[in-house]
Amino acid sequence: MSDTVTRLEAIRASVARAARDFGRKPQSVTLIAVSKTKPAEQIAEVLEAGQRVFGENYVQEAKAKWPALKARFPDAELHMIGPLQSNKAREAVELFDAIHSLDRESLAKELAREIARAGRAPRLFVQVNTGEEPQKGGIAPGETDAFLARCRDVHGLAIEGLMCIPPEAEPPSPHFALLAKIAARNGLKGLSMGMSADYEAAIQLGATHVRIGSAIFGARG
Ligand SMILES: *Cc1c(COP(=O)(O)O)cnc(C)c1O
Repeated sequence: MSDTVTRLEAIRASVARAARDFGRKPQSVTLIAVSKTKPAEQIAEVLEAGQRVFGENYVQEAKAKWPALKARFPDAELHMIGPLQSNKAREAVELFDAIHSLDRESLAKELAREIARAGRAPRLFVQVNTGEEPQKGGIAPGETDAFLARCRDVHGLAIEGLMCIPPEAEPPSPHFALLAKIAARNGLKGLSMGMSADYEAAIQLGATHVRIGSAIFGARG
């Protein structure tokens, strides 16, 4: 077994164990293998080992790698987890099965337009800037309820859940708890939270999607 596949198997087991430890069903947590900056050959190993859900951060990079991989593995699912420019909305709607970084009204409008055009709708997660960091994308926690209402009522978008990236220098759990609270009061089931360093805490607090890169693919150069 390659080192990558060994790490994948360990993470899968660990995600399932964390779910059980916290009284949840392992199937209730989807592992997103984050393959940004990693070559197609390494991604293919992970696909061959049975992993089907992947995350990428850049539209151009995903476009270069994924059409060929999807041709080989048609049931692979691709999630956009990085910041999305409005002028890339069309390509994103064509390429991705889910988008986790809906973080502003102008993007909601573009996505709604492109979804109608393409007749294909990626599942959508609204990114919340739980730490209210100026350099980070995401809707402020206090504005999220109103933003969700506008996504639904003005743009006709179905939102599956919320996503956050806690500030690096803080314990992540309060951010995960806040995201779960905002999702619950808005009747949303999806919670995209938890990365290589903190996925167990995220699972404890209700993550339905964990986004794990370096713990599977190795450190990024
Ligand atoms: C890169 C990235 C990840 C994966 O991070 P790791 O620490 O390598 O697991 C998860 N989520 C987002 C939004 C990312 O940009």
